[in-house]
Order: sequence, then C-alpha cells, then structure tokens
Amino acid sequence: MLTKAPKGTKDVLPQEVYQWHYIEDTIRRVTRAFGYREIRTPVFEHTELFERGVGGTTDIVQKEMYTFQDKGGRSITLKPEGTAGVARAYIEHKLYANPQPVKMYYLTPCYRYERPQAGRLREFHQFGIEVFGAPEASVDVEVIALAMSLFRELGIQGLALKINSIGCPRCRPVYHEVLKSYLSHHLKDLCRTCKDRHEKNPLRILDCKTENCQPVIKGAPHMLDHLCEECSEHFEDTKRFLSAAGFEYEIDPMIVRGLDYYTKTVFEIVSDSIGAQGTVCGGGRYDGLVEECGGPGVPGVGFGLGLERLLLVLESQNIEMPERVVCDVYFATIGEKARVKAFELVQLLREKGISADMDHVGRSLKAQFKYADKLGARFVGTIGDDELAGRQLRLKEMATGYEETVDFDRIIDCLEAKY
Ligand code: ATP
Ligand code: MG
Repeated sequence: MLTKAPKGTKDVLPQEVYQWHYIEDTIRRVTRAFGYREIRTPVFEHTELFERGVGGTTDIVQKEMYTFQDKGGRSITLKPEGTAGVARAYIEHKLYANPQPVKMYYLTPCYRYERPQAGRLREFHQFGIEVFGAPEASVDVEVIALAMSLFRELGIQGLALKINSIGCPRCRPVYHEVLKSYLSHHLKDLCRTCKDRHEKNPLRILDCKTENCQPVIKGAPHMLDHLCEECSEHFEDTKRFLSAAGFEYEIDPMIVRGLDYYTKTVFEIVSDSIGAQGTVCGGGRYDGLVEECGGPGVPGVGFGLGLERLLLVLESQNIEMPERVVCDVYFATIGEKARVKAFELVQLLREKGISADMDHVGRSLKAQFKYADKLGARFVGTIGDDELAGRQLRLKEMATGYEETVDFDRIIDCLEAKY
C-alpha cells in the first residue's frame, strides 16, 4: 500500500514530463490565437454544484463522484469535470456583466470513481473550453475549430468529427415521449441500466455501449427529426460554419453526451487508434446551465478533452515530442578546489538563464563524462589543478567532440554567445 499509488492514478515521471509540457505549451499557443484566457477553479466544490450542473441522472453523479464530508460537516466533491466550476465562477464573479462572450480555457485534474482501463483513470486531466454569453452557431464551430487546430498543431491525423443536435427544453420533451414509446416495446431487449434509464433519462440509452442494446438503439427514432424550428436553424447554421471552416464531419444521431445540461449542438472527436475509449474530445452547447446553477439565462458552449487519451493517440501515431535539453553545460571536476570553482561558475551561468550542473556524488572524471552524456549536456567543461592554475578550462562540445580552452572570465560570454 505504502509504495503503491491508489488504483486508477498515475505518476508523471521526470523523464516523461516533457510530453505534458509540450502538449500544455501547444494548448497555450492555440488558445491564445483563438482569444481564450485561462481560468483556474478549485479542485473541490460543494457537491450540490455537480448534482445541479452535471445532472442527477448522469453516471457521473450517480456512480462516479468522489464525495466526502469535510470537518465542518459540508458535503464536498472532487471535480469530476471542469464545466460546473467554471459556470459557478462565472456567476459568483458576475462575469456576465463584462462584454460577452467570455472565452475561457482550463487545464485541470478530474476525479471519477470508474473501473480503470486503457484510457480510463480515476484521476485524469482535462483541457477544456468554456464560452459563455454567445448564442450563435459560429461559436459552436469556433470551439470545434480550436480543438481541431490543437490536433493539427500536434500532428495528429485520422480523427473523426461527429456532430448531432439534442434539441432544447422546448422540443426535447416531445422527442422524449416518442423515444420512450419506441423503447417501451423493446424493454426486454435492453440491459438493466437502460431499463432504469427508460423513465428518468431515455436519451442516455442511445449512448449505451452494451452489445445487447445495439439492435434496439439502431432502430430508435432520431432527435434530429424532431427539432423545433429554432434548433433546426441552429443546426443548419452549425453545418454551414463547419463547411466554411473546411471541416469534414459526420452526423451521428446517437451522440447524446453523458451530461444532462446539453442543448442543441453536441459533438465528439474520436480516434480509431486507441481502442474502446476512443473519444478524445467531447462537447457541445449548454444554454440552460448557467441558469440551472443559479445565474442569469446565459448560453454556453465548450468541450472537455482528455489529456491522457490525447497522449495515447500521440503514442499510437508515433509522434515524437521534442524534449527540451535540461543541461546546457556540465562541469566535470578533479579535486575539491575545482569543485568549488565549478560551483561558482554554475551559479553565475544559472543566473544568466543557462542550465548548468556539476557532480555532487563524488564520481570519477570518466563517470562524470558518462553522466553528462546521459543528461544530454551540450557542453562539458573540465576543471582540474592545471586549469585552476591557468584560470581557464577546457570546453568540449559533446555532439562534435570539438574542444577549446576558455578563460574563466570569458566562460559566461562564450556560452551566452552559443545560446
Ligand atoms: P466516456 O464515454 O469515455 O466515459 P465521458 O462522456 O464520460 O467519456 P466527458 O465527461 O465528456 O467523457 O469528458 C471529456 C473527456 O474526458 C472524454 O472525452 C475523455 O477524453 C476524457 N475522460 C473522461 N473520463 C475519463 C477517465 N475516466 N479517464 C481518462 N479520461 C477520461
Ligand atoms: Mg464516462
């Protein structure tokens, strides 16, 4: 127990963290180009927020939340997703009083008590987008375009964009009845979970992955055939902007998304290269959410993108991510006096923003070179008694083997010129 991380969690080790940095740097670059700013909200919120904001009939609220009572007797939940907290912050800080839309992104850990498997963890990380205050379909497509830009920047190929509309509180109840009536004739062919869903949330049955339910789901009526005029126009607009942006997409009437608060557009971006958990990015519009959470009636649209799944896609497509050199220059020393000199130079170089290092474990000169090589050091400077006497050192470029002698006084200028 003591030396094993909890089930469904994962350490990111120093030798692999560059992959996360690369993805995060790319996210910051892309979001900036689209005019989004970061928002950071707490890792835990009042449980009620998720019950309201995610929805009481969802798997997340019913089965997956990490909920506990704090010492003050409050019910607290570790965030299972990013949207509810952002909606809460938008209301609490009256961001609706600012010019709209408010365009935000977040990078956050999420917690869900699920059965861990490939692409499914109990602590995972999401990059998410939230736009509040914009009703137009152009912004639905803007957030999709942002996700697509990120994938393009990372060099990912072969992702499918699937879209659907799940209507609004005006047309969805009508469709619910049509769907319920269809399903009531097939209840015996549905799994137990779906039998439960039939009354409370029939739409979610379309999302069921159980093999046995598939024939029933295939024959089900589609929301798209029951959209009200406003939702239908919005869907047409969405398709028009998607075409204007040059995106290929597939209309998939079975996409309903897991959360209760969606209206109109829903979409998923799916990879076929990482197995069953292929949905890398899921999102859509949620015009009722802010009001549901106690704010004004402000529309919202966004997505959540799983970073562990994104990493799986990058790996499966053998996409190399650049690893930043962590050591520009390493000082190999012989003797204690040389170590003190090296320490002084390391300090000066670091102050100039040049990454410098030296031995701290008493390695032989040969072992220090080997270690510098392992670190990926670009240069190794050697200091022994002769160098101390001559106030200079030998500087070797590791890739070429080229060596030069540099005065101690000139070492900073010399290295600064190389970086
Ligand atoms: P799934 O159908 O895979 O359960 P979901 O509908 O529950 O996904 P969302 O709530 O929309 O997922 O979350 C957005 C994204 O977060 C997903 O598309 C996925 O990339 C990622 N994600 C969701 N749950 C997990 C998890 N348990 N582990 C890792 N990533 C996850
Ligand atoms: Mg899920």
